[in-house]
Amino acid sequence: MDIKKNQEILLTIEDITKDGEGIGKYQGFPFFVKDTVIGDEIIAAITKLKKNYGYARLISVENPSADRISPPCPVARQCGGCKIQQLSYEKQKEFKWNQVAGCLKRIGGFSGIEEKMEPILAMEDPWHYRNKAQFPIGYDKNGNLVAGFYAGRTHSIVPNTNCLIQAKVNEEILEHILSYMKEYKISAYDEKTQKGLVRHVLTRVGFVTGEIMVCLVVNGKAKQLRNLSSLVERLQTIEGITSIIVNTNKENTNRILGTDCETVWGKDYIEDYIGEIRYQIGPMSFYQVNPQQTKVLYSKALEYAQLDGSETVWDMYCGIGTISLFLAQKAKQVYGVEIIKEAIDDARVNAKINGFDNVEFFVGKAEEVVPEHYKETGIDPDVVVVDPPRKGCDSALLETILKMEPKRIVYVSCDPATLARDCKLLCEEKYQIVKAAVVDQFAHSTHVECVTLLQKKNG
Ligand code: SAH
Repeated sequence: MDIKKNQEILLTIEDITKDGEGIGKYQGFPFFVKDTVIGDEIIAAITKLKKNYGYARLISVENPSADRISPPCPVARQCGGCKIQQLSYEKQKEFKWNQVAGCLKRIGGFSGIEEKMEPILAMEDPWHYRNKAQFPIGYDKNGNLVAGFYAGRTHSIVPNTNCLIQAKVNEEILEHILSYMKEYKISAYDEKTQKGLVRHVLTRVGFVTGEIMVCLVVNGKAKQLRNLSSLVERLQTIEGITSIIVNTNKENTNRILGTDCETVWGKDYIEDYIGEIRYQIGPMSFYQVNPQQTKVLYSKALEYAQLDGSETVWDMYCGIGTISLFLAQKAKQVYGVEIIKEAIDDARVNAKINGFDNVEFFVGKAEEVVPEHYKETGIDPDVVVVDPPRKGCDSALLETILKMEPKRIVYVSCDPATLARDCKLLCEEKYQIVKAAVVDQFAHSTHVECVTLLQKKNG
């Protein structure tokens, strides 16, 4: 076949990868093309050729798919954030539901799983849902100060203060910060020279309480920000502002936050609720970014756990204990385990401020802590909840769970491939999948979140 780099080719998009790239064939040879939708007829320029496949860049849509919409965000294509805004939300839902069903069938061998899967739990209005934003601050080609998001796979900033998936108040916050920086000639940090001051602006918004935190990440200390009181005064005019913080990060690193924080005005944290449970959230705290759908997800996990108040429950990979506390409302005793110490510190504070005395947290690897605890106490939990990172559960942990023989396992997953792998192992002898629900936590991205209920056979 005679094709070469930069050549423009006509493709019909026939499929989509799990990362949202369209796939079209040219003379039988598959090409991956971002920003496309199944059914699109496009012209694309070849960017890379491998032995059995290639990559191409979308040049023009000649004949749009019926599922294609015009992305509401003007910078949707340049920005590294939303990957599938061009796909109608109806089709995004279908894509995510099919991902889970496909993995459970293909990797897990669960044929007929579709009948056990609930319809996707999605958002009615899938915009402005994120409660946490991290905007890099820098300069455009002409040297103008800008705030925005990184373009895909690079650190060049796509200017945008009005991100459609973030809280609306960010626009006002950024306008105050940019005008303050211009007025007092405060520099933005430059990654190449490692000079300049302001690196990022982090905002957090409590959607239930209305409380807002603004955190400036600075290559230096708060006192180096000239006339900072003038910025504080401007930010105070925004309704809901409760916390203004300066975080110091002087490292040459991709990590956004440094380790030191100084509260320059207000509280060290904001508060928010998921359901009835109150949380304190500092600038460093891990906290779910879509609170509305988190409530849906945790409620589903709680529903699947089927607690009547008599149960002992493990919450493995518990983070700041959000699911643990949700379960503690209905269980006799909850144990949580998490590898990050700071997360467990937050979990203990959150248990205390909500008055729970039936939750105990452990710091460590789940695959070490749980077997040790089991050996020492012999406690067989009635229900086990797991919510592992993308790589799924450690096999030593799965073996311990199989030994403990809980009546139910509720598996919360952010990666259907590892979910399917782990469920296959759990279902070899003792368990069966009873139900599964997909929850759309991250509209316009390809991330998929789901909850699966496994029940002990004959039990
Ligand atoms: N259930 C929590 C967090 C889930 S994210 C929530 O809903 O908010 C997965 C968590 O697993 C992360 O907090 C991560 O730090 C933790 N983790 C990763 N590897 C771990 C391990 N081996 N043992 C225990 N926790 C681990």
